[in-house]
Amino acid sequence: GPLVGVLALQGDYGAHARMLTALGARVREVRVPADLDGLEGLVIPGGESTTMTLGVAREGLAEPLQAFAAAGAPLLGTCAGLIMLDRTHLGILDVTAERNAFGRQIRSFEEDLQLDGITGAGAPMRAVFIRAPWVAEHGPDVEVLAAVDGHIVAVRQGEVLAVSFHPEITGDDRLHAAFLARVRARRGA
Ligand code: GLN
Repeated sequence: GPLVGVLALQGDYGAHARMLTALGARVREVRVPADLDGLEGLVIPGGESTTMTLGVAREGLAEPLQAFAAAGAPLLGTCAGLIMLDRTHLGILDVTAERNAFGRQIRSFEEDLQLDGITGAGAPMRAVFIRAPWVAEHGPDVEVLAAVDGHIVAVRQGEVLAVSFHPEITGDDRLHAAFLARVRARRGA
């Protein structure tokens, strides 16, 4: 299977790694720049974006992550991972994320979502939002895949997919499968 990474500075990277492994990928935890060598894709998990940002700075990971994305490798960011990709953090996605946008911890909620190009004509995806961000602003190259009450919660820009929720904890692996399909497609290209 393809070799993909999961940024493992903080957050629930273990659940992503298990899901990707179950889908036939080989998974490497990424903590330092050298861990990116040879990877064919990368997941940035949910967690706490301030802590993750400090870890990225401490390990000198910002520039290597930006170069990895610029080389066209597929990326998947979820929740805090979406925040990490935005304009004010790594600047990989042309979006501005608003943190904790749905309110405080008590505003964590679940919602059934259709994701353009991912759930297709199939069943909607159960999306778990935990102190989730939304996309407050985005540039013209950003495709909106889903919204909740008019607030954007899933986007794609080129090879980068990002969602506000936690797809790794519901057992629905379609988002991870879509990410791996991009990885495999790029491999065959
Ligand atoms: N609220 C967190 C942050 O701002 C993100 C929450 C999550 O990843 N579940 O970083």
